[in-house]
Amino acid sequence: MHDVTIIGGGAAGLTAAIYAKRAGMDVVVLEKMGVGGQIILTDTVENYPGFDNISGPDLMEKFEKHAQKFGVEIDYEEVSEVRFGNKSHTVVTDGNEYDSIAIIVASGSQPRKLRVPGEDKFIGRGVSYCAVCDGPFFKDKEVAVIGGGDAAIKESIYLTQIVKKVTIIHRRDELRAEKMLQDQAFANPKIEFIWDHVVEEINGEDSFQGITIHNVKHPEEKRFLEKSGVFVYIGHIPNTGFIDVEKTSNGLIKTVACFLETSVQGIYAAGDCRDTCLRQIATCVGDGALAAFNAGEYVEKVKSGHI
Ligand code: NAP
Repeated sequence: MHDVTIIGGGAAGLTAAIYAKRAGMDVVVLEKMGVGGQIILTDTVENYPGFDNISGPDLMEKFEKHAQKFGVEIDYEEVSEVRFGNKSHTVVTDGNEYDSIAIIVASGSQPRKLRVPGEDKFIGRGVSYCAVCDGPFFKDKEVAVIGGGDAAIKESIYLTQIVKKVTIIHRRDELRAEKMLQDQAFANPKIEFIWDHVVEEINGEDSFQGITIHNVKHPEEKRFLEKSGVFVYIGHIPNTGFIDVEKTSNGLIKTVACFLETSVQGIYAAGDCRDTCLRQIATCVGDGALAAFNAGEYVEKVKSGHI
């Protein structure tokens, strides 16, 4: 029986672990792959205070070492289910069951797919969701980037260091990305924009050849773009299928403001998997600290018989 089980080893989960461990709690972090979360897919981080320019993997290595310094236990297991109890809950993984008084769900999110013909066929062979991982395969080539948010624009700027040309295809005629990134992209001679278009198909027989796009205002207007690859940045889907707490229609976990408690007593949510208005490393860190603090108060009440 642990005091707290933390599901997810990204920025929110590791912060929660550091806070919970320093508060004297018995903590276990469950992580299905490697720690670091989505941030390790980011080339440079410039908006996390204290680090004006650091790579995503380097920053998350610091988080991991920080957690290890305080003796946080990280088990590499994928969570399949959470069973609710009265004064404790059970996290079920592929090989084990973890009982704890409180749970912090910090399971993050995964890239949203286009869901068009050809996408699955060419994943890793022309279709990518990670410029940092796959960009070097496209040296001096022409690629497309889909999306208009921070990730699409930031990663397009990164790609221009490697590729010959980036064509950003966005479904509207204005970007969602923050102003500073927009200004950088508009000023970059290697970036061109195609507005009001969406991807209809990823083309190629044995190998990737390009994409077919159409105008959202005139769907009959289709164009084939010959490209070496396409990077998809159209948002994320929360990893919350394993837990049956109250969620939004998009699967984001609803929490009570400040407490970050979910609809089930003793279960908290932090970071990108919860229903919040800003998803940044800084907000994940804030969430992790809050969730750990509140989980700690809850654990104390249960242990002292006040709950
Ligand atoms: P996002 O902000 O949700 O943007 C997704 C983009 O994809 C939007 O432009 C959206 O279009 C478009 N889109 C969504 N579904 C689509 C579809 N089916 N077909 C075509 N286009 C589609 O996602 P994100 O860029 O991954 O960012 C996620 C969070 O991380 C945000 O909170 C962001 O601020 C944060 N982030 C921050 C940084 C940073 O450096 N500060 C970097 C990366 C991410 P519409 O605009 O029309 O909705």
